Amino acid sequence: MSANTVMMKAADYKAKWHDADELKWAARHWATRIGVKVPQIHLRLMKTKWASMSTAGRLTLNIDLLLLPKALGEFVIVHELVHLIAPNHGKVFKSFMYAYLPDWEERGRDLQLNGHRDK
Ligand SMILES: [Zn+2]
Repeated sequence: MSANTVMMKAADYKAKWHDADELKWAARHWATRIGVKVPQIHLRLMKTKWASMSTAGRLTLNIDLLLLPKALGEFVIVHELVHLIAPNHGKVFKSFMYAYLPDWEERGRDLQLNGHRDK
């Protein structure tokens, strides 16, 4: 990998969301890619979690995600969506996470550095 590629990856990793619509759009994009139905996506202030997912497919994302790099919001989105096909954090969950976001563990660690406990 050239130095230029590394720099581009780093810049991309740190890119921020333009607005709430972009974050919601990303959630819809990932739902389509993973093949799950998410009829409702909401953004609101959450005190202890980055997101929650109801069994009916109502995804709530913490509005504070807009302050963090896109890579971390994406991690939160994919984590929640994968829970629709793998309820706990077992082997199946991990294999889906590796398939969709190969660096998901690194993103999870970065997210923890930004406060709030992991789900
Ligand atoms: Zn989880």
